[in-house]
Amino acid sequence: MASSITLEKIVKRFGAFPVVHGIDLKIEPGEFTVFVGPSGCGKSTLLRMIAGLEEISEGDLRIDGERVNETAASKRGIAMVFQSYALYPHMSVYKNLAFGLETAGYKKPEVQERVQKAADILQIGPLLQRKPKALSGGQRQRVAIGRAIVREPKIFLFDEPLSNLDAELRVQMRVEIAKLHQTLGSTMIYVTHDQVEAMTMADKIVVLRDGRIMQVGRPLDLYNNPANQFVAGFIGSPKMNFLSAKVASGDSSNRTIEVAGRRIVLEKPVAAAQGEPLTFGVRPEHVNPQAPASLGEASIQLVEHLGGSTVVYTATPDGQAATVLLDGQRQIRIGETIPFAFDLSQTHLFGADGRRI
Ligand code: ATP
Repeated sequence: MASSITLEKIVKRFGAFPVVHGIDLKIEPGEFTVFVGPSGCGKSTLLRMIAGLEEISEGDLRIDGERVNETAASKRGIAMVFQSYALYPHMSVYKNLAFGLETAGYKKPEVQERVQKAADILQIGPLLQRKPKALSGGQRQRVAIGRAIVREPKIFLFDEPLSNLDAELRVQMRVEIAKLHQTLGSTMIYVTHDQVEAMTMADKIVVLRDGRIMQVGRPLDLYNNPANQFVAGFIGSPKMNFLSAKVASGDSSNRTIEVAGRRIVLEKPVAAAQGEPLTFGVRPEHVNPQAPASLGEASIQLVEHLGGSTVVYTATPDGQAATVLLDGQRQIRIGETIPFAFDLSQTHLFGADGRRI
């Protein structure tokens, strides 16, 4: 049965130094939640507090409504998969999977049944007699996940489990973990700094920065409606373009903004003071030379032909760097220009404090 997890005003200090500043979060039973953020944002610390590997300085952690701050890690019904597989090198794959159950006192038939079931789910049956050194990185990570599965935990925690794998294998394992979630239906929390992993795997993404939640939401909600400039820049690849802007002087309706030296009239008034420095955001894939609103001709500085798409690095007429992502293959060259145009409904505006307005 899947469990809920609730964090109430969770604080973590190392000595006097706070690194997690009062996190409130509800994770529903069976949800796949991804903690994502840049290095040092506190995502691993948060996961380790949930696992019981790190003491909670303040606040309440609840699993299925019950406070577990002081509950030992082994009693929380949680299994964790780490970046380093931490397999026992002298034991076979079978023994690696069985060992924890045997020491916990499970009888042989039960151990065999659980190992076989995990091996079936992960398709590692043919590898059971091998030693870890005879496995590829992806196979080792599958065994590490298997070791979590045999415990039949209520909650799975993954701490950057794919970081040691090459790009192709990461994609493959990403799909396998997503399938595993569908098969088991367990509550899972997955930590990564990779926004693509977050977007592709999560039911719910928690974006963290400097020990604070910047936004919680479904992947496409974060993409379409980022709450702030940080989330807007973090989610999506290539990154959203940010251009300096301000409310145009002399416009009493507050609907005209100046972006890259051009005036643009918005549908609604902007909730910002005249002269306040604003940031105008538009994603590279939303720049469309045929669209109605335009900042004029951007000069092309570099072109990447990826086959399925073309990435164009440009400079706006006033010299700000801006990326354009076009579908398919394009005959365009450095030194030419491209209309930097877009649909206003696909643009964003951020205040001086970074909040979307
Ligand atoms: P990464 O992706 O680099 O692992 P992260 O987001 O997981 O980063 P954490 O490992 O949770 O970040 O660390 C959050 C902050 O807490 C960092 O500033 C880190 O230096 C600090 N920190 C982590 N562990 C300790 C510790 N044992 N003692 C002191 N400070 C620590």
